[in-house]
Amino acid sequence: MKNYRIVLLKGDGIGPEIVKEAVKVLDQAAKVYGFSISYEEALLGGIAITQTGKPLPEETVTACKASDAVLLGAVGGYQWDQLPGSLRPEAGLLGIRAALGLYANLRPARIFAPLRSASPLRENIIGDAMDILIVRELTGGIYFGQRGRVEKNGASAAYDTELYTVPEIERIVRTAFRVAQKRRKMLCSVDKANVLESSRLWRETVIRVAKEFPDVELSHMYVDNAAMQLVRNPGQFDVIVTSNLFGDILSDEASMLSGSIGMLPSASLSDSTLGLYEPIHGSAPDLAGQGIANPLATILSAAMLLKYSLGQERASREVERAVDQALLKARTADIWEEGCERVSTAQMGNLVAGLIDGKTA
Ligand code: NAD
Repeated sequence: MKNYRIVLLKGDGIGPEIVKEAVKVLDQAAKVYGFSISYEEALLGGIAITQTGKPLPEETVTACKASDAVLLGAVGGYQWDQLPGSLRPEAGLLGIRAALGLYANLRPARIFAPLRSASPLRENIIGDAMDILIVRELTGGIYFGQRGRVEKNGASAAYDTELYTVPEIERIVRTAFRVAQKRRKMLCSVDKANVLESSRLWRETVIRVAKEFPDVELSHMYVDNAAMQLVRNPGQFDVIVTSNLFGDILSDEASMLSGSIGMLPSASLSDSTLGLYEPIHGSAPDLAGQGIANPLATILSAAMLLKYSLGQERASREVERAVDQALLKARTADIWEEGCERVSTAQMGNLVAGLIDGKTA
């Protein structure tokens, strides 16, 4: 029987509570689909600072590098807010992404039919088909380019530089095409090629790489139009690929469309199958220890882990199906509506795990 090694970085706040539920679901998926998982826990974020003095201990990097995939809860909390930047919990997060070479960030934004009324968009606009995956370049562009302060015309000035090499563009675009091949085979590349030279190189490169993926329909869109189209007709998109800066903004915009922060997973991928999976929300210190946090974003992150790192696509679809079904039966407090049963974090985990029975084709 195939055995996979997963490192759990439970982190802070609600992190341990939500990761526990995702593990229940992974174990049930493994049982039904005939593989096994061994887990190793490692420290990241505030808990790592408290126990070792560093947000990202060396042992954590070593354990993650030796694993098949990493599942992360969330990091951060009030008790570490006063520390200098390089010693804060978030530094651990940036550090582990860099150490594992995670250059592609995948953020799905989909509408869960039972939660349609939670979307800030009118129901006739959101429709029932919204299912977008944003592939954001994570380790290049303006966030990593040269920056500085200068004098210009006698005034203080500052600059940041957007710089992409062709290999950096090629690898993120290939990742996006491969992901699109596993979905509805439509890829929209978002840039600002009418103004920016870096975007013109981006677009030329996308067009060249597209020849390797003739089965995927490619389109291009300027970023200002993309921001508008996401709220005008989100159903038109399948996969979107874009730079670090544009992806940062568009992925937050798209995630709001589904209406609930407790529902949204993410994956960060490298050149190998090793990836890091985490909910997009933070450590919610206001909810920690109460057993009421929504574990579904972490459970859906585990579904992405099954698909992208373990290659267990049927198990992944089955977890997503179980989540859809669970939402029809019960809700955690953050998404609770009149007429639904209100359940705890653990009850939601049990419910989803119990719905995994291999019925997915
Ligand atoms: P947050 O995402 O933790 O919380 C925002 C709001 O959403 C809160 O009201 C919270 O109760 C609610 N919420 C979040 N997750 C939920 C869930 N699973 N179920 C139900 N409700 C949920 O963001 P914040 O309050 O700005 O930050 C809190 C801490 O988390 C800070 O220390 C911040 O630095 C950290 N943070 C970490 C990450 C990460 O680990 N990737 C991301 C964002 C923020």
